[in-house]
Amino acid sequence: MSHRCLSHLEAVARAATVRNLVYALDVDLTTGDELFRSVTTVRFTADPGAETFLEARPERLLGATLNGVELPADAFAEGRLRLADLAADNTVVVTAEYAYTRTSEGVHRFTDPADKQVYVYAQPSITDAPRFMACFDQPDLKAPVTLSVTADPSWLVRANAEGVQATPGRWEFPATKPVATYLITFVAGPYVELTDSHDGIPLGLYARASYAEVLERDAPEIFSLTKAFLDRYHELFGLRYPFGKYDQAFVPEFGWGAMEFPGCVVFRDELLFRAAVTDTERLERAAVIAHEMAHMWFGDLVTMRWWDDLWLNESFATYMGYRLVAEVTPWPQSWTRFGVGRKAWGYVADQRPSTHPIAPTEVADTDAAFANFDGISYAKGCSALRQLVAFIGDEAFLAGLRAHFDKHAWGNATLADLLGALSQASGRDLDAWAQAWLRTPQVNTLRPVIEWAPDGSYASVTVEQTASQEYPTLRPHRIGLGWFGEDGAWQRTEVEVTGASTPVPQLSGVRGRGLLLNDGDFTFAKIRMDERARAELPSLLAEQPDSLARALWWNSAWDAVRDAEWPATELVELAAAALPAEPDVVIVESVFGLARYAATRMVPADRQEAARSALAGAAKTLLATAAPGSGHQLAAARSLIATAADADRAMLRGWLSGADVPAGLRVDAELRWAVLGRLAVLGDVTEEEIDGELQRDTSDRGEQEAVRVRACRPDPAAKERAFDLVVTEQGQSNRIAAAAGDGLWQPEHAELTAPFVARYFAELPRAQGRSGDMLAHLAKAAYPVYAVSEDTLAAAQAALAGEMHPLLRRALVDETDDLARSLRAQRAA
Ligand SMILES: [Zn+2]
Repeated sequence: MSHRCLSHLEAVARAATVRNLVYALDVDLTTGDELFRSVTTVRFTADPGAETFLEARPERLLGATLNGVELPADAFAEGRLRLADLAADNTVVVTAEYAYTRTSEGVHRFTDPADKQVYVYAQPSITDAPRFMACFDQPDLKAPVTLSVTADPSWLVRANAEGVQATPGRWEFPATKPVATYLITFVAGPYVELTDSHDGIPLGLYARASYAEVLERDAPEIFSLTKAFLDRYHELFGLRYPFGKYDQAFVPEFGWGAMEFPGCVVFRDELLFRAAVTDTERLERAAVIAHEMAHMWFGDLVTMRWWDDLWLNESFATYMGYRLVAEVTPWPQSWTRFGVGRKAWGYVADQRPSTHPIAPTEVADTDAAFANFDGISYAKGCSALRQLVAFIGDEAFLAGLRAHFDKHAWGNATLADLLGALSQASGRDLDAWAQAWLRTPQVNTLRPVIEWAPDGSYASVTVEQTASQEYPTLRPHRIGLGWFGEDGAWQRTEVEVTGASTPVPQLSGVRGRGLLLNDGDFTFAKIRMDERARAELPSLLAEQPDSLARALWWNSAWDAVRDAEWPATELVELAAAALPAEPDVVIVESVFGLARYAATRMVPADRQEAARSALAGAAKTLLATAAPGSGHQLAAARSLIATAADADRAMLRGWLSGADVPAGLRVDAELRWAVLGRLAVLGDVTEEEIDGELQRDTSDRGEQEAVRVRACRPDPAAKERAFDLVVTEQGQSNRIAAAAGDGLWQPEHAELTAPFVARYFAELPRAQGRSGDMLAHLAKAAYPVYAVSEDTLAAAQAALAGEMHPLLRRALVDETDDLARSLRAQRAA
């Protein structure tokens, strides 16, 4: 149903009206496959005579009373229930039927194709709590929630609080501590459970029955990480985990990576590894586990007042996530992954037309809040926090945090509150820092200007800082400078860059090579290298012992290509030469990814085949030398599959039938689908073969992969079907739509898919009951990313001239900006 999004002004007014709020929610999941029923009882005090409204978005409102009196029919409109003439003490009871979704919005209902078992979970997201209850849906109206759930008696139900099955099928959960509506959840179905405990905290892990074996296999690692992170947060924050038990549920088709529901964190179940993975994936999963746990303190215990501080929530949790992985797990290179993975996402987002300050001064409504779920809020904000820690020191940072938690526990706080606590702890005024870093958008470029002495030493080194014309802010950057000294050892000094030009006198007279700005990666800036370093880059990469420094060089090269300062072919050649000898699998995978992007979009069309072939050659070299069963071997195999050409078809066919498989390489379900997808792109897979594979793998992943592989076939009917699935059709799973979009566009199928480019911009995913967030998701999934041309740009501009949902527009603007960059890169080649 249509609804109005909540504005900041409305939220402020409502927070001033509603006091002493308490919810009781009674959910009945036994009323059929399409709809479920809930009764919400809302109690609060107010000034007599005041007026306010609740949000609710049911399919059918069955009844609504205020203080025992039925509300008039016209009180309910646009997803809002108007409450007029309030008493001092108020009780509202709303009984309604709500629709299950397949988009991970509200209550998601999933039938597992592997065994036909049904699973549901509640995802309130920013605006979807009213899809299962009546509530004041804003982060500063926190309240205790008492929950009851009626479900199939064979089901297990988990929620924020520790509950019991009081009678068969009837679950009762006592009142939670005060929580925001976006943090209320329940998970219900024939989930399997594994339990443990640590330091007095009960721990639970959950997955659907068809993942029981996978959960069993991964549980020791997940439990062990969970315990190590709990210990470390207790140490750092000086405040124990505040929500009783700590459950982690891995659920099907979750829309995000995970969500920090207090006491009951929910993860997408792709994070349980049913197939072989590399350390990159294990590291990233660990970072997600630590990220969600950080939110228990920052977000759940102390909650933002309004969505303008969403970034603070996410930046903080991202920072803590990678920090804890570096500190207490077997993957000390987590900042390398951040540097070459997440951070690149931040740079991209910050240079788009849609850029915004990390901390916007105003987020007018919930639509605007959704648009801020981007690389700026997560990655750039995380980098800014690293810079802040470098600026004030870790001790002051942690002391400020502890004071902040103490002061605002169970309540709400703002950026100003946190800055106040950090200023007090560090004795430094942070206003100017916050203004430069948090209140202004866009990224600075740092460039070394080197005068060379005749003997080959540095006569002088200056760090030059520039900003874009539209956003001319220069910022203070506390950075490391690294170089190879005469003895070949890597050296480092630190400097505080301010203004346009910062001399580094300590380097005068030093005989060094490979000068690297931002060594240690404490700041967020585009880093350029000097001409000599660029020329020597292959040997510098080979000699550099520190993976984080190598990541910074790769990022610098990637950035120069995106800015059309370096030809994309140079990056591809560099990657092809360096990756077979790269010791860190995190860099192997990340840089293969960047190089493939360059080879398929930024290299001019007539040279793309050669670029792909260079990458395939590098993958073959790595595959031949990697240790059997290693992450390097798997990364090489995946990269080879993605870039394989006609001549490699026999090899790929062999992998499917078990012939000539490299020793130690597990050709499991995921790898089989990857091979089939590539063979399909190359025109070598029939529908019957896909059906056969689907019989081997009857999981939902199998269903998604089958959709993707069908869409990969160079067949007009297959493309037509894929286009319908992602652009036109309603009601299918969000995963299926994304899979269709993924297969539809292939660099090799430019001619075949040309008609769909114009159709994409003419038709675009339509609303028809879809949320703005889902429209944006589909628009990205279906965007013609390989059709890099003036014509595509013109079609995009024409489409953008029309009316559309702001979140759909944002997605189109961003994708089109990437396309324009690719076009510029092609021209620079
Ligand atoms: Zn988060």
